[in-house]
Amino acid sequence: MNSDSGPREVYLDHNATTPLDPRVKRAMGDYLKSGGANPHSSGHKAGWRAAEAVDRARRQVAALLNVRAENIVFTSGATEANNLGILGRALAAEREYGGPGHLLCSAIEHPSVCEVCHHLTARGWALEVVPVDRGGLLDPLEVARRLRPETRIVAVMAANHEIGTLQPVQTIAELCSSAGVVYHCDATQAAGKAPLDAGAPGIGLLSLSAHKIYGPMGIGALYIEGRTRIAPLLHGGNQERGLRPGTVPVPLAVGFGAAADLCRKEMVAEAERLKGLRDALLQGLGRLCPDLTVNGVLEPRLAGNLNIHFPGVAAEDLLLRFPDLHLSTGAACATGRPEPSPVLRALGLTPQEIAASIRIGLGRFTTQDDVEFTLERLSAGLSRSVSG
Ligand code: PMP
Repeated sequence: MNSDSGPREVYLDHNATTPLDPRVKRAMGDYLKSGGANPHSSGHKAGWRAAEAVDRARRQVAALLNVRAENIVFTSGATEANNLGILGRALAAEREYGGPGHLLCSAIEHPSVCEVCHHLTARGWALEVVPVDRGGLLDPLEVARRLRPETRIVAVMAANHEIGTLQPVQTIAELCSSAGVVYHCDATQAAGKAPLDAGAPGIGLLSLSAHKIYGPMGIGALYIEGRTRIAPLLHGGNQERGLRPGTVPVPLAVGFGAAADLCRKEMVAEAERLKGLRDALLQGLGRLCPDLTVNGVLEPRLAGNLNIHFPGVAAEDLLLRFPDLHLSTGAACATGRPEPSPVLRALGLTPQEIAASIRIGLGRFTTQDDVEFTLERLSAGLSRSVSG
């Protein structure tokens, strides 16, 4: 992807956010041109049209996840959806069982999951963090071993935001189903990119975000399985069945729905194309730097993700030298935090290896040309870094 004018820039930070697809932008523009109204205004035609636009978006998001539209609650993004899922379920469980319980989360969860889990310990919850192996994969047996009669929530993401590894969602769901525990799955990185059946038995809660699937920033969703009870975190009107009061932002919902629809139709072909580009990039990088190591297993992983370390290279300096190459050393949400990536630490990487790591996220508009431009740039950077 190039910027509209000026020198060439290549965007390879799709795990941080994805650009708005022009088709999504058009759908939002069409809606905005129609005037719009509050979808909760039930007394006039303009309100009905807005409500129909929200319903349609809900059906489109539900279809991407293979679930019923009535089980989708719109939120401001995945951070809110993760908070609503985990905290909302914990509050409901406290009421159902008469007090706090035990919960599990994986060692490589996004901060919007692990920080919520840690927050619950201050309310008396017992938290156990389930490790991942050097490849960034969680062994479901490690979850099974830790389940107790008082375990109420298991939080394991579908795809990781830094290394793209895909967790065995289905197996964890089956485990949770037979143990009667609510499984919360953060599917923010996986939704629309990898096959995902949120309707499979055992998945109680599942979160996603529009801006990771070529939709607009500012909207996301939580899927809540029919029998899973959660308490709202916000109090106000009865929107979203009272679980998330506040006016639904219709233009954002329209964009989210359109983005979900495109992903549903194009996901398989897109993943195949991205995998080809990613593997070509990896081969090229391997020629430039034979000592490079991929952080985490290459399979199963999101097709567009690479996370690699170049021994002896200061990744931060390398990226600063090429601001036209939009890469990152870690998760955007961790920027400004001085400590090394908790995800890479959980894999057992040394601080030196972490400091030499970069994340490359290819996406819908990445071309072969972009891959070549990246290799050219990094080739100059790596020869200088290694020699200097
Ligand atoms: N979970 C994961 C795995 C993510 O990658 C992100 C975004 N970096 C989030 C949650 C939070 O998403 P949002 O920006 O929509 O709050």
